[in-house]
This record gives sequence, structure tokens and C-alpha cells, in this order.
Amino acid sequence: MNRSEFGKTIRFARTLLEENLMSNNELMADKGASRPASSGKKEIADKGSGLCEFEKKISSCVKCRLGHTRTKFVFGEGSPGAELMFVGEGPGYDEDHQGRPFVGRAGQLLTKIIESIGLKREDVFIANLVKCHPMKDPSDPEKRGNDRAPALDEIQECLPYLERQIELIAPKIICALGSYSAKTLLSTEETISSLRGKFRIRNGILLMPTYHPAALLRNPGWKKEVWHDMKLIKAELEKLGK
Ligand code: URA
Repeated sequence: MNRSEFGKTIRFARTLLEENLMSNNELMADKGASRPASSGKKEIADKGSGLCEFEKKISSCVKCRLGHTRTKFVFGEGSPGAELMFVGEGPGYDEDHQGRPFVGRAGQLLTKIIESIGLKREDVFIANLVKCHPMKDPSDPEKRGNDRAPALDEIQECLPYLERQIELIAPKIICALGSYSAKTLLSTEETISSLRGKFRIRNGILLMPTYHPAALLRNPGWKKEVWHDMKLIKAELEKLGK
């Protein structure tokens, strides 16, 4: 490990300690950051143009009620060649206003979680089950905290968009954030606490369900479980990179 990699690892570790994501023992046991091997440049460029075209095609969608009340369509962002893809629930206030996924408080925690396994936000792809902000009171898009979970029909309407994103990116691992994402992607009614922590295979892709970062903000005690799940992802990415 060179000086700058060492510095980066120490910064990640400090963040984790501050966030209580990692205990001192885990810190000692962690062997540092490693980035999964990426696809070839041409392949990534092709995936990138495929995603851009797809975003243009769907970004004025009004197939469900959310399309009529959103401020911005939140397609998702990250590397088109990502080996790891995160799937959340749906945009909240900040995401709706910025047009980017996971940029609010939960998003800041997700960024730290990603960094905890030696990756940057730009190395992964971050998307949601639904691309537009589900609001409790759609007549007041300027009200903070006006968020709700997506309804089943909204998820069903939007799911083909996520499926196409997965097809275009072809990640090696999907991390389903929270109960809605895990249950939808695995077509199950099992609880997130029983689903998390174990890889499943979905259409040939490894899928790890874990707690949603917003749930971690409410229940900081669950960070240990998320750290466990992220370590499994990291180990799998390392295996795949060899
Ligand atoms: N929660 C989500 O599930 N997705 C976001 O983009 C932001 C918060």
C-alpha cells in the first residue's frame, strides 16, 4: 500500500469510527481498500451511452401519479461500468429538488457506507425502485418531511426502468437498501431483518439485502449489521476481481 492509499484507508477508517460503523477490532482486522476490476473502456463507454439514451427516453415519464407531482426525475447516477449497484426506495425532498439519488442525510450516510469498503460513490451505481418523489401531500412539494414509501402500483409501473438499468449496467452485485427494495427485487414478503446478511441470486446476479441508511439514522444500533453485510460484499468483489 503506497502513502496515498494508506492515507485514504486511514480517512475511511476515521469516518467509520466516527459513525460507529466499525469497532476498533474490526478496524485492525480490515486489510484496507481494494477496488474491483472494472470493465474495458469501450464497454464502459457503450454502457454509458446506453444509459444516457435510456435516461432521455424515460425522464419525462408520467405513467403514474408521481410523474405529475415531481420536481425532478431521479434517474440514478454512478459508473456505467459499476460492479456494485445500490437500489433504494425512492427520492425524498433533496433528491426531488436536485435530481440526484441519495443526496440528503440518508445519502450522506450511504456515501460513508460505500467508502467503508474502499469505494467512492463514482465507482458504484445508485438507483431507486421509483424515479419520482412519493409525497404524503402531493399539493405541497416544498414541504420537507413530506415523504412516504412508494405504493405497490407505483413500484410496478417503475420497475421495468430499474430492470433495464440493471440490464445495461450488468453489475456483479446488487445491494438492496431496505425492506421495499429487498422485497420487490426478491419477490418475497419476508422481513428485511430475516433477508439481510445473506447473498441471494437474482437473474444470475448476487443480491445482498441490507438495512436502508434512513433506518440506520433512526436505529444506530443496526450499523453493526450493515457493516457485516458490507464486508461480505467487499469480500465477494475481491473474489470477483481475481
Ligand atoms: N431514500 C431512498 O430510498 N432513495 C433516495 O434516493 C433517497 C432516500
